[in-house]
Amino acid sequence: MEGLEVERAGIQLNERGRGIAVNEHMRTNVEHIYAIGDVTNIMQLAHVASHQGITAIDGILGESGGMHYTAIPNVIFTSPEIASVGLLEDECKQQGMDYSVSKVSFASNGKALTMNEPEGFIKLIRDNRSQKIVGGSIIGPDASSLISTLTLAIANELTEQQITHTVFAHPTTGEVIHEAAFGLSIGALHQA
Ligand SMILES: Cc1cc2nc3c(=O)[nH]c(=O)nc-3n(C[C@H](O)[C@H](O)[C@H](O)COP(=O)(O)OP(=O)(O)OC[C@H]3O[C@@H](n4cnc5c(N)ncnc54)[C@H](O)[C@@H]3O)c2cc1C
Repeated sequence: MEGLEVERAGIQLNERGRGIAVNEHMRTNVEHIYAIGDVTNIMQLAHVASHQGITAIDGILGESGGMHYTAIPNVIFTSPEIASVGLLEDECKQQGMDYSVSKVSFASNGKALTMNEPEGFIKLIRDNRSQKIVGGSIIGPDASSLISTLTLAIANELTEQQITHTVFAHPTTGEVIHEAAFGLSIGALHQA
């Protein structure tokens, strides 16, 4: 942002003055100028910047829909990997939500055992009123890839039942998602 002097083009900054203010279609207050990515200072992640670009083009082409930030995955590329999407349990508490949590260990996952990576877990959070999955965290093997499945579930407001009614391939680390969804109803099938 430094040196850009966007104000000279009449472009407004956000309320913190540290990013270009945009609407959900990534349009600035100047009708023909759009902004995406880190300069908007909404979420400084490459996949957010990329999706904001797609959203801006959709808006320019007159497509409906806009940018939403409820299902943006976060990944920490450590060993083991850590990933989360949607609400954290603390945020559910702050919102006064009636929620349930299911936690399943990778120690009960056949693929994780064959990879010799049994450490870690998945945690799923369900809004009990809507039955929808609203948050998930994964620490363990393939967490950076598995979070995409949870992102798909949360972005499309899937319920725990829609996940348990889906067939997951065996043996895969992805089965922890299936197990955790069962944990929200009849109980995880293979929990150690
Ligand atoms: C160390 C590090 C690690 C990161 N790791 C991850 C990660 O693992 N996953 C993830 O999702 N995100 C990660 N990020 C964040 C990610 O890199 C950014 O969110 C993303 O690059 C933003 O894309 P952008 O196009 O908005 O900005 P940029 O990628 O910064 O692109 C802006 C471009 O504009 C150019 N530019 C600047 N000023 C001018 C000017 N006046 N005139 C012309 N050109 C100009 C710059 O040279 C640059 O090429 C990381 C960032 C850092 C710094």
